[in-house]
Amino acid sequence: MSEYSAWFECINGCPQRFSLFEIIYRCPSCGDLLDVQHDMDALRRRSAAAWMKLFDERYRRNDFPYGSGVWGKKEWVVPFIANENIVSTYEGGTNLLWAERYGKMLGVEDLWVKQCGNSHTGSFKDLGMTVLVSVVKQMIAEGQNIAAIACASTGDTSAALANYCAAAGIPAVVLLPRNKVSPAQLVQPIANGALVVSLDTDFDGCMALVQEITKEKTVYLANSMNSLRLEGQKTVAIELVQQFDWEVPDWVVIPGGNLGNVSALGKGFLMMKELGLIQKLPRIAVAQAANANPLYLSYLNNFRTFTPVQAKKTLASAIQIGNPVSYKRAVKVLQQFDGVVEQATESELADEAALADRTGMFNCPHTGVALAVFRKLVERKVIRSNQRVVVISTAHGLKFSEQKTAYHLGKIPDVQPKYANHPLELPPDARKVVDAIRRFADKVRLMEA
Ligand SMILES: *Cc1c(COP(=O)(O)O)cnc(C)c1O
Ligand SMILES: [Zn+2]
Repeated sequence: MSEYSAWFECINGCPQRFSLFEIIYRCPSCGDLLDVQHDMDALRRRSAAAWMKLFDERYRRNDFPYGSGVWGKKEWVVPFIANENIVSTYEGGTNLLWAERYGKMLGVEDLWVKQCGNSHTGSFKDLGMTVLVSVVKQMIAEGQNIAAIACASTGDTSAALANYCAAAGIPAVVLLPRNKVSPAQLVQPIANGALVVSLDTDFDGCMALVQEITKEKTVYLANSMNSLRLEGQKTVAIELVQQFDWEVPDWVVIPGGNLGNVSALGKGFLMMKELGLIQKLPRIAVAQAANANPLYLSYLNNFRTFTPVQAKKTLASAIQIGNPVSYKRAVKVLQQFDGVVEQATESELADEAALADRTGMFNCPHTGVALAVFRKLVERKVIRSNQRVVVISTAHGLKFSEQKTAYHLGKIPDVQPKYANHPLELPPDARKVVDAIRRFADKVRLMEA
């Protein structure tokens, strides 16, 4: 047995506690969500310096499962799970990229992009899914009757769920809104052998349905209303501070849809502060697509009211969500982190992703939303030029090749691409190619000047 413990409890503070191995997603007293709570007194018995040393010793090493960015922090995640039940793909440990040229363009030289999409299934969803699937594997090993794990998804959750389930040998079921996920995202759960159900509705419709079918307790719910996922995702906060040798940045900018990830980010920082690893908190900016902006609208009236919206189509398909499950969690985080919410239009997100690509990134549209919001906050001097900023990049750009190609060909409706780069068609003639190179080099020089 581990000397540390953790349990589910209600986000509104209702008194009951539940085992992490119990099949329960909502508080039986008030019906609201549950969070994982840790025995902080037990964790405090180890000093902050000792935790940092332990995490540093494990980081990206080979002693299974501790080399994983998530399981290297096992005591803070699910301390008592048996290592033999952990389903890990060595997730986390992603590059914290110094965005040198892009940052200079905007006058912020201490700009970093946390490349969470450089991971096993190409998005940060791996960080949470390793925890959820491992817990279910242990539940099954202990004799609980679970036939399958199911999720509603805008693409990346289903890719991660299908993959970790395939690794564990557990059946996975994914509910996707028809024609609203990219082909790359659709083929991932197909390749991993999940039951892929394509539904004539949007994400919010899939979410309602998955809650319905998981009332049948033999189908376990994998959406982020299940806070096991957030326990894994919170390690991104710990990891990025660790990558700065335990210094806290001034700002973290993060795209938000269902708002699980910003809730997890906040949780990671708060836990570090409570245990003395850090002394201050960063400010947090949540970036939303203007076409799916319920948090932004609520922010405009100081979170006094919240009205779900009908999310409109956006290139940032993973955040095309009108009724975010973790709204309350996210508001709590924003209030504690002096947070702001800003939005980006389709043109803004596509152009910003393309501009940053020209400085050596390859951005997904959600990262485009975060970068466009970063620009706005710099221009408004909310973010100041001498501050250290981390932008959370949530998925790999290769998942969105089709829309990135369409951008460069000028084929995205209502978007006039500022940074389109057309392939040039030429006869195989050396003279003509040399001329083209000369014109191209002049153009690049001009842009740099
Ligand atoms: C899931 C996802 C998001 C949004 O995270 P939430 O927890 O739903 O706010 C953003 N970007 C990508 C690529 C995602 O897969
Ligand atoms: Zn409650």
